[in-house]
Amino acid sequence: MTALLLGALGLTLSLVVPGILAGARWPDRAPAAAVLLWQAITLAGVLCALGVVLAAPEELTRASGKPVAAAALAGALLIAATIVLRLLWSLYGVSKRSRARRARHRLLVDLLDRVEQREELGVDNLRVLQGALPLAYCVPGREARVVLSDGALKILDRPEIDAVLAHEQTHLRHRHDLVMESFTAFYRAVPRPLRSRAPLDAVHLLLEMVADDAASRRAGPAPLQAALERLSDAVPLAEDAAANPKGDARRRRLARLGAPHTRSVGLNALASVAAVGLLVLPTVILVVPWLHVALLKWPLK
Ligand SMILES: [Zn+2]
Repeated sequence: MTALLLGALGLTLSLVVPGILAGARWPDRAPAAAVLLWQAITLAGVLCALGVVLAAPEELTRASGKPVAAAALAGALLIAATIVLRLLWSLYGVSKRSRARRARHRLLVDLLDRVEQREELGVDNLRVLQGALPLAYCVPGREARVVLSDGALKILDRPEIDAVLAHEQTHLRHRHDLVMESFTAFYRAVPRPLRSRAPLDAVHLLLEMVADDAASRRAGPAPLQAALERLSDAVPLAEDAAANPKGDARRRRLARLGAPHTRSVGLNALASVAAVGLLVLPTVILVVPWLHVALLKWPLK
């Protein structure tokens, strides 16, 4: 029964819940906690898959009244190990590729940097590129850079530039790139029929909101809102995480900047509790009773 329940929970978490959460609008009011919830859903899905694989052979043989066959146990362990290794391999591949891409990108922006303009702004890790296209983005990593085009500098006033810089520095300081990498790696590791882009797109937008919140605390919501209206928050390095339909994402970000009072401490707490519960409850409710029975019936006893 445990394997069945874990399987149902795992399928619900990977096929049903992402669609519902991606369509909900409450995460706009508590974006950081919503990211935590997405992480918990993803991790709980993996735990369920591992639970099914490990519980199924024991339960099947228990039903037939014979002791657990060593071959079945070994097979289960092998499949579980394959799942874990596949995830780790995917994470390794994604982070290796993005590190290499960022190193090239950093080299380029350092070469093309317009030093005079940057020095006027007095920000160490800022690089200013020539170009009419208004651009603002960051290149994360150990030697992180924030990149602005002089097209952006032309259309933004100083408070707006500060707001944009605060937004990008938040991405860097909170290592949002690592959060996105983990979701990308998970997406790539999951077999095609089971995977969904919903978490990737939703988390990408939520991280933008987290950075917006930090920037508007530092520089005020009005300058950030004005800057956002003028700029395309191009994030060329996150092409794996193509955002929601861009217009909709921007509308949502602008709407919440215009109504800062809608941010909800209660929702934050609730979503955080749900995230923890999602990881703890299945373990307690499903796995502990199974372990208890399995140990009682263990052939060595
Ligand atoms: Zn951003």
